[in-house]
Amino acid sequence: MKKVTQLIHHSYKPPESFESPQPGIFKASTVYFPSAQAVRELTWLDKSSYTYGLHGTPTTFILEERIASLEGGRYCSLACSGLAAINLVNLALLKTGDQLLLPENVYEPSVEAADSLFKGFGVTTAYYDPMQPQTLKNAMTEKAKLVWLEAPGSVTMEFPALDELIKIARAGGAYTALDNTWSSGLAFCGFELGQDAQGQIIGADIVMQALTKYPSGGGDVLMGSVVTRDAAIHRQIQKAHALIGMGVAANDVELVLRSLPTLALRYHKQFKQAFELAQWCQERDEFAAVLNPALQASPGHDEWLRLSHKTGAGIFSVVFDRRFSQAQIDRFVDALKLFKIGYSWGGPVSLVMAYDLPHMRKHPHWDGMLVRFCIGFEDVQDLKDDLAQALKVM
Ligand SMILES: *Cc1c(COP(=O)(O)O)cnc(C)c1O
Repeated sequence: MKKVTQLIHHSYKPPESFESPQPGIFKASTVYFPSAQAVRELTWLDKSSYTYGLHGTPTTFILEERIASLEGGRYCSLACSGLAAINLVNLALLKTGDQLLLPENVYEPSVEAADSLFKGFGVTTAYYDPMQPQTLKNAMTEKAKLVWLEAPGSVTMEFPALDELIKIARAGGAYTALDNTWSSGLAFCGFELGQDAQGQIIGADIVMQALTKYPSGGGDVLMGSVVTRDAAIHRQIQKAHALIGMGVAANDVELVLRSLPTLALRYHKQFKQAFELAQWCQERDEFAAVLNPALQASPGHDEWLRLSHKTGAGIFSVVFDRRFSQAQIDRFVDALKLFKIGYSWGGPVSLVMAYDLPHMRKHPHWDGMLVRFCIGFEDVQDLKDDLAQALKVM
């Protein structure tokens, strides 16, 4: 054998059963089959074997199983971002003529995808007010196929009666998909939100999460997950997943696997810090409202008490009093030193982002400028001091 061949086909094999805290990482497009016959017989569909990197590796299978457990589901598909996970669900379930239902406070890019991409495919979209379940009932037609849920809205923080919404969607014959990024599988289980009069469990059919946020925890990974308890729905999603070639990179999966053991620790700590800062903001007269479902005055506080384990994501928003101009609020945001201006949450660094409410909502409960904070791991007193000095500059 020539050296160049030997470099590729070397006979040395490391000893088996190497075990350590983190699993080995496998990267592949090509996967070797043991025989020509095996090519015809092996299938990736049930995780019993490997056929091609896009269809799964030991690395992606491990993360899928862990995320399915985290969400309290059975099957998981990984997507290359949270937004891709949302649209994977839409692509898998919606056909021409179907109606899609979105809450008015839904994650913003979903609105654009519905109004351009899915409209072009002949899917109609209607919006409902998540805080008034009756509006979902009114908006649904006999074509209703899929209802998205989010708890709470990730900018305006309203916490809806998820169980009531799911009951209405079910009665109308539609699937329910919950964007569970805020809960991260920890604040509540999206598949078990109560029981109906017959003792049947009320829960979403599909639970999606942006792993980009808390499961990554580093602000350095984009990934999403789609979990279900239903084998038929999972097959439909996996089929769409394979057909559109939705792969995730092993290096990114490795980072999420590395972060998962500390997920709960980080999540509860960031919630505690955010709650303390939100309470501090409530004492200030610059704000017309402070929004976080753990605060009594925040919309849906009672639903949060009823449905969650009284914890949540480390984010909250403030609505500025109308006496402040846009320029003043910009000055406040720019004056912050520890809070960096940026989208996303769940990472170690505190973030701030300003939103213009009337442009975001059909029926905003408040008008004026809203600023959202995502709380990292800095000392909470340092963060208070930073907010105080920036309010002074404003
Ligand atoms: C961030 C986020 C998404 C999208 O996740 P990406 O990985 O950034 O695409 C979807 N839903 C919610 C609620 C989010 O916060």
